[in-house]
Formats: sequence, C-alpha cells, structure tokens
Amino acid sequence: MATSANAMLYHVNKQIFIFYPKASFNPCLIRRICTSSSRCGAQPRLKVKSSPQQLVGVVGLEIHAQIQSSTKLFSGSPVRFLAPPNSLVSFFDASLPGTLPVLNRRCVEAAVMTGLALNCTINRKSLFDRKHYFYADLPAGYQITQQRRPVAVDGTLTYSHLGGKKRNQVLKKTVRITQIQLEQDSGKSLHDDQRCHTLIDLNRAGVGLMELVMEPDMSCGEEAAAAVRELQLILQALGTCQGNMSEGQLRVDANVSVHVPGEPLGVRTEVKNINSARFLARAIDYEIQRQTDVLQRGGRVQNETRAYDSKSGETTPMRDKEGLQDYRFMPEPNLPPLIVYEDKASLPAGMDAQQAVVVEQIRERLPELPSVKRDRLVQMYAILPEHSFTLVNEDGLVDYFEAVMKETKREPRKVIGWVANELLGHLKQRDLSVSQSPISPSALAELLELQETGRISSSVAKQVFQEMWRSSGKTSLQIIQEQDLGLVSNTAELNSICQKIVDSYPNEVHAVRNGNKKVLNKLMGFVQKETKGRADPVLVRAILEEKTTTTTTTS
Ligand code: ADP
Ligand code: MG
Repeated sequence: MATSANAMLYHVNKQIFIFYPKASFNPCLIRRICTSSSRCGAQPRLKVKSSPQQLVGVVGLEIHAQIQSSTKLFSGSPVRFLAPPNSLVSFFDASLPGTLPVLNRRCVEAAVMTGLALNCTINRKSLFDRKHYFYADLPAGYQITQQRRPVAVDGTLTYSHLGGKKRNQVLKKTVRITQIQLEQDSGKSLHDDQRCHTLIDLNRAGVGLMELVMEPDMSCGEEAAAAVRELQLILQALGTCQGNMSEGQLRVDANVSVHVPGEPLGVRTEVKNINSARFLARAIDYEIQRQTDVLQRGGRVQNETRAYDSKSGETTPMRDKEGLQDYRFMPEPNLPPLIVYEDKASLPAGMDAQQAVVVEQIRERLPELPSVKRDRLVQMYAILPEHSFTLVNEDGLVDYFEAVMKETKREPRKVIGWVANELLGHLKQRDLSVSQSPISPSALAELLELQETGRISSSVAKQVFQEMWRSSGKTSLQIIQEQDLGLVSNTAELNSICQKIVDSYPNEVHAVRNGNKKVLNKLMGFVQKETKGRADPVLVRAILEEKTTTTTTTS
C-alpha cells in the first residue's frame, strides 16, 4: 500500500487510518483504509417488567468539566468555543518535540475551588502522570492527568429533587465524590463518512479539564440527572466551568449496573454520548431495564462501553472492556509535584502569595452555593421550596426576585408568582435570558405597588404587564393613564353597574339567595367584564352581597 513518506499509519479500534500532517495546523486528513464490521445495531426496545429478584440499579458518574479559563492547562493558547479549526494551537498543544508544559495557575485554583465547594480534602501535594493511548486527536500519544495523587479527594455532593405524590416534596440526597483530577482535554476528530476520511481539530487539545469521579451511590436516572444539574449550578456559581452539556463543557459518562440489594455490585457498562441531563436520566433508566432483562433471561451483562442514541432512546454497544487496557501510566517527567498552601503563613520564606495557590484565599472567595441560596430564600421569604428551585435554576432570577422585593411591599408569595410564572413564562416563550428581560425589576415592582395600593385590579395588572413587555420602555403608570385602566372605586358608578347585573341574571341571584355563595363570584365576573376588569373587587363584592341579601330579607 503506497502512502506518502511522511504520512503515519494509525491503527485505532480495528480501523486503520493514514494521518497526513498539513502545514500550519490545517485540519489533518485521515483516510480510512479498511473497517471491520460494525457491531452497532439498534436493539429492540425493551418491555418494562417487574423483577422477581428485585434487582436495583447502581449508578456511578465520571464527569469531565472544562475549566473556564482564558488559556489552556499547560500552554498559553486561548480557549474559545466555535473558533475556526486549528486556530488555537500552540507548538506544545501539537506536541512538537522540545516543547514543555507550563502549569496554568488559574486551572489549579478552579480545581481547588471546586474541591472546596464539594467538601473535598485538598491534597497539599498532587502529582501529574502520563496516560498512554494512541488516537489521532491526541498527538503526544499520551494525556497528562493525575492518576496517582489527584488534587482533591473524598468529597460529597448534596442534591435535591422533587418527589412524592404531587412531586412537591424536596428529597435531599448525597453522593460521595471519590476525587477531582486535573487533566488535558484531547482534540476533536471530525468523521466524514461520505468521503471516508477524518479531520482533526486541535483547538480543544490541552484545554484544562477537571475529572470528577463519583462513588456508585445513585440508583436511577432521575437521581443522576438531579446530581448533574446541581453540579452544573455549583460550577456556574463558582465560575469554574460554564457547565453546558450540549456544548461539551460538561461531559458525563454513566457507569450502570444492577444487583440484588445486599449482594456484591454487578458487572457494569459505561454509557457515553450523553449531552443533556434529560438524556442522562433516560439512558440510565434504559440501561437498568436492559440489564435487568438480560439477567432475567439468564444472560450475562458484558463489561462494555455503550453509546446512547437520543433519537431511539436506546444504548448500543461501542467497544468491550473485558480485556484490561494497559495505559502504561508513568510519572510526567516535565512537571514537578503540584504544591498548594493552606494559608499565607505556610508559604516558604520569600514566596509571593500572588504566585502561589493558597487554599484559605480561595475558600474566602467561595460564593453562596445553590443549596444555601435555596434554604435562605425559603427562610427569608417563606416561599415554597419548589419556588426556590425555580429561582435558583434560572441564571439571574434570584437577583431579579430580590431586587423586586426591595422595592415593593407586596407579599413574597405574590411576587414569586409574578416572577416564576409571568416573567419566566414570557422569557422562556421567547428564548430570552433574565438579563434580556424588557421589564426591569424596578418596573415590575412599580406595577406590583399599583396593585398593592389598590390603584389597579389583578386582571388589569396582567394586561399592563403584557403591554409593558410589548412597548418595552413605557412605565406601568403611563400605560394605565393612556388606556384608562385605573381601578373604578366610585361607589355610585359601581352600584349602578351591579344593579344592572343583578337585574339581568335573576337565576344566579336566586342561587346566591339559596346559599350558593360560589355563584357570587360568577356575578362578580360579570361586573368585571362590564368594566373591563377595572372594578374594585372589594367594593363590588360588598355591593353584590348587600344587593343579594337585601333582596332575600325583603322578599
Ligand atoms: P475504572 O478503573 O474503570 O475507571 P473505577 O473503579 O475507577 O473504574 O470506577 C469508575 C466509575 O465507575 C466510578 O464513577 C464508579 O462509581 C463507577 N462504578 C464502579 N463500579 C460500579 C458498578 N458496579 N456499578 C455502577 N457504577 C460503578
Ligand atoms: Mg477510574
């Protein structure tokens, strides 16, 4: 087989590739010469069966979080999403001989901060290792990681999800974090099946990752999804990772097995290719059901890596892991041990605190974490726990709510209704973030005050909200004046409208007279219709009650 002199042969997963390096880090071309037959075939959808052996699911997650940093872990190349291919590649990232790694302090600080937020022990000394494997998007032939001694160990992540019959009970659970290690991301291979070649983009090669390994403490998809959502919120609050799964900033591999409680854990599979929390839950539940089914049919679960297909909702085999892969780990000779210091006092003489990673300083910078924020909101404003979830889950919504609260005397439970339903509903419908809301917290507070002080009714408040959204800029007061939406509280005027309604609906009046108080609300509705929702509800109720009772006593 003829190949050009400087092309390299790659043998990856039973496929042979030729790797053609191109000048100035253009996408490198890999031609597929031969392919072994694919084992990936869609499996039939499994029927859900109840298990006589009471098999339960066991789930352990391995999560790769891209560190939010302007430069890569060991080089000065910028980190950016969606940059032109191979435009963010230094000589080190491309593994040119003679280049050396220089550790990025920002990445270490991010891992330490994440470790602290997850109650980990921070190792004062951690080590870097080389993990060898051969793949086109890993030009060095090894990844620098922390196999022997990671930066953080023995943590916990407490997460909550809503459960119970009405799904309004907050269930709190904890998963143990085995470790957090720093490591390099690989490049990206872009497979073009039509033209039978693969392109390599090294922009991602060398980006800092935190790998979080969790203990197999979870038992179903919903728990895993809730844990990942909580982790996303924590990382975003810390600013250590943007946490977007669909953009690959957070990549979750799910290890899944089933066993009979009390017995040793079963053989696990590892599910990859999951790009949202929702799909994570589905992939895990599918896998638990599939394994249960295999065992119940007398089969054996294979130790293998499987891919999740979000279209079919199924997992399919990718490669088996029965034979132990030897990564030939060895200490990274070009990096000294990573030392972090507890506080300034423990710095060696002459060392500048600005140059070192000082745990105490990072601890002081920890922001309010999502769980603490939720508890505070429930305590401070006496709002429902599920509302605290809604607020915290939406970036910027807590700040918005608290800004409104500062400027209105309305009860928090009323304000939350406006923020969580009206405002969030409008934002979601138009795919806007909280910061893009055309209605500012002060503008909403002003509207709520007008309602609070009885200047407008609640139905008019909703109309005004819509109008404020549309006109973006007009104040609620302007809209109320322009459209004459102020509350009608002139007793004489309301009296005559109520009389007209009482005269027009004798059957309803009769029902109220016979003690059916609910029908009074119907009559009130007729009055509101007549006044386009502007009538003062308290006055209307009083007048209608008087009119219906008076009739009763006089008849
Ligand atoms: P490996 O050496 O293959 O990486 P580890 O023992 O380090 O395996 O575990 C990797 C991940 O798999 C961890 O997140 C762990 O919680 C999970 N895991 C281990 N055993 C099981 C099991 N039987 N079922 C489900 N998850 C498991
Ligand atoms: Mg492991």
